[in-house]
Amino acid sequence: MRVCVIGTGYVGLVTGACLAYIGHHVICVDNNEVKIALMQSGKSPIYEPGLSAIMQSTMKSGKLEFTKDFQAGINHGQVIFIAVDTPPLPKGESDTRYIQAVACGIGAHLNSGYKVIVNKSTVPIGSGDWVYQLILDKLAEHQEEVNTEFDIVSNPEFLREGLAVYDTFNPERIILGSNSKQAITIMQELYAPIIERQIAADPTLPPVNVLITDLNSAEVIHYAANASLATKISFINEVANICDRVGANVNHVAKGIGLDSWIGNKLLQAGMGWGGSYFPKDLSALINIADDYGYDAQLLQATVGKNQHQCLVVVEKLQQALETLKDKNIGLLGLTFNPYTDNMCDTSILELIEQLSQLDAKIKAYDPIVAYASKDPMPVNVTIVTEPEQLAHDCDALVLVTDWLQFYNLDYAKLAKLMKTPVLIDGRNFLDPEILTEAGFYYITTGPPTAASTLLAKLLQRIVPSYSLQIHSRDKSSRWRVSRSSGRSGGSKNYQISFDLLPFSTL
Ligand code: NAD
Repeated sequence: MRVCVIGTGYVGLVTGACLAYIGHHVICVDNNEVKIALMQSGKSPIYEPGLSAIMQSTMKSGKLEFTKDFQAGINHGQVIFIAVDTPPLPKGESDTRYIQAVACGIGAHLNSGYKVIVNKSTVPIGSGDWVYQLILDKLAEHQEEVNTEFDIVSNPEFLREGLAVYDTFNPERIILGSNSKQAITIMQELYAPIIERQIAADPTLPPVNVLITDLNSAEVIHYAANASLATKISFINEVANICDRVGANVNHVAKGIGLDSWIGNKLLQAGMGWGGSYFPKDLSALINIADDYGYDAQLLQATVGKNQHQCLVVVEKLQQALETLKDKNIGLLGLTFNPYTDNMCDTSILELIEQLSQLDAKIKAYDPIVAYASKDPMPVNVTIVTEPEQLAHDCDALVLVTDWLQFYNLDYAKLAKLMKTPVLIDGRNFLDPEILTEAGFYYITTGPPTAASTLLAKLLQRIVPSYSLQIHSRDKSSRWRVSRSSGRSGGSKNYQISFDLLPFSTL
């Protein structure tokens, strides 16, 4: 099939290259000349595992081409994808001006045959009909009697940056929203090799679920899916913060609730919160859409609000360990929300950097890709180093920001020796506590009980052995408060013991 993809960012380039890989003849169009020249030379403007190899092989076989010539792309495509960016405006709603420009461009250039116009960008609800009307209006301007036929399909994208090629070939579902049976049939043909798992990691799996629906529902599905994932992460972070105060282990709690198939065990990993380029933008857009229709989306607002403060948990834990952060060297392991990507548009990490800077900490960072490949400007106040050892050298504490697999296997014993104080805050609850403790680290998670609170619990158990004690809150004066009730018949007694928890640096 002949395909045109307009917009060659994460979504457009990966879609175009993968469709070429399964045998379609794809022309990718972008108005960024520098990007087009780079891609024509066989290079990818983004870091995505597997993408460069697919680009090179499909370009060699003539299945994948790049151009800035809009007319050539429109003439070529039986199926035309719109994959341009829809960045957030200051109030959170999506900026649809690039969609509008592309829709008008399609209308101005359509001249023959039947075309399927597929929207892959994340757009406000009703955009499918709006794009249809924009194209029709433009067509009417240059055709006395409009005789070009086209239909609109909404095909929301669920790829994860860093796993985009894998996700395209191994989707859990494909959503096709349209009012046209003809367009849906063409889309099913287009995706047939993927639906039938011909290039899947596990070809024995049953065919991919394809949900056929109307335009508006498909547009809502994208927002609702991201809102649901973000809410699940915020939920487990809320539970983690409670666990931290009551001395429970959130990893065990997550496992315990995740074994219930109604809940499921995915995304129940407490940590620094959700981020990336798209969760924050999509949640704000959905809240705005609801507001436009007179609905106050309180749960989604709470999800966003909860996440905004989640990175402060890391700052708080650093303060507990080091007392003051002024002039302390803090090393960040990773700079992105997802591993295997160089995309640094992560509000939660930028917020962490901002908070540390405000407290006059000196920040260094090591990321396996960002230092070499990122097109994003480096955050100010952060010194980027190129080796984990450089990061650890003279550091007062490390913070694990990104759950790169290679961070699991670092030589932590060596890193601990290079540091002023071997403190590590695990912002993703990713590392093995035993390995880190054996390596000499004071290892602090963002959820499960810290070494200090566990030690405290054991100590207090000795003082009052007949009772089961639990640390259940920390008051504002940074004293731990411990209470218990005897549970004996005849009433219960409350005991409260207050004591200071010394910061690690003073031990
Ligand atoms: P991006 O910013 O990486 O790329 C957009 C591309 O469109 C750029 O190369 C830009 O030059 C090009 N463009 C803009 N206007 C154009 C025009 N008039 N003509 C030709 N090209 C034009 O964006 P992205 O990350 O690929 O996202 C695209 C859409 O997909 C957005 O709506 C986004 O919300 C959605 N989405 C993204 C992801 C993701 O993980 N990146 C996931 C799901 C959905």
